[in-house]
Amino acid sequence: MTITHDRSTKTIALVTGANRGLGLATAQLLGEAGTTVLLGARNAAKAEIAAARLRDRGIDCWPLTLDVESELSIAAAAERVRLDHGRLDILINNAGILPEATTADAAQPLDLDLFRRTFDTNVFGVAAVSQAFLPLLTDSEAGRIVNVSSRMGSLADQLDPSSPYAGMVVPAYQTSKAALNGLTIALSKSLSGTSVRVNSVCPGWVQTDLGGPDNRAAAPMKADEAARTVVDMALPTEGPTGTFVDLDGVVPW
Ligand code: NDP
Repeated sequence: MTITHDRSTKTIALVTGANRGLGLATAQLLGEAGTTVLLGARNAAKAEIAAARLRDRGIDCWPLTLDVESELSIAAAAERVRLDHGRLDILINNAGILPEATTADAAQPLDLDLFRRTFDTNVFGVAAVSQAFLPLLTDSEAGRIVNVSSRMGSLADQLDPSSPYAGMVVPAYQTSKAALNGLTIALSKSLSGTSVRVNSVCPGWVQTDLGGPDNRAAAPMKADEAARTVVDMALPTEGPTGTFVDLDGVVPW
């Protein structure tokens, strides 16, 4: 069934991995700002539950089954959005994993299976979703792609002994976010002649399943606080492209 919407003015945003954590908080903030939010989740039931939760808060949102590792799922989701909305204004590539948090073996720092799994989601998933939704983003007057990255992927931080991130070693995750940042730079250049902007955002260290428990000594930020940085980059129709920012401003690559 095709949903009939007012296609004239309302901003339409898609958040991947929106069923929990930072993605759900980002979707809520976008919705509170008046955006129509498409809640991407690989599990259809979880997408429905998240959408019901946000609708209870008065947010205009729709569940969208989207597994960023599945070409079929991505193609079906893009077609769904094309039929229902005709364009996309904002794509938040939020879905991400950090399997090293629970499975890394310090004696085996180069676990290739873990590397592949991490890259499949954090890098190839972002590339595949961006590619599939680009035609819809270029149909927007001001398309925006926000890649949810991490300072853990900043090579400058890893090499700076004074950085709080210098001592952290999670090779698959760090290289995946560095690669994601490379994708941001390359795609922003490829799209320089279009209306689509591409930026990386580090949300901070956030209390989620990935970031760790509600413990301000470890992960100091709550998801709704951290989502503000993502949304601040996503909402404006004009702004920079090819940048990497966090709450405090520009992050060195
Ligand atoms: P969570 O683990 O809480 O949530 C991750 C989300 O990604 C879930 O919705 C999960 O879905 C989804 N996801 C994972 N794999 C896929 C897939 N193949 N297809 C679709 N969705 C998928 O993590 P956070 O909310 O903390 O992380 C969100 C983003 O923020 C990530 O990119 C992460 O790297 C980044 N980030 C987080 C930080 C933190 O401190 N938390 C710090 C810096 C960056 P499911 O429920 O189905 O597993």
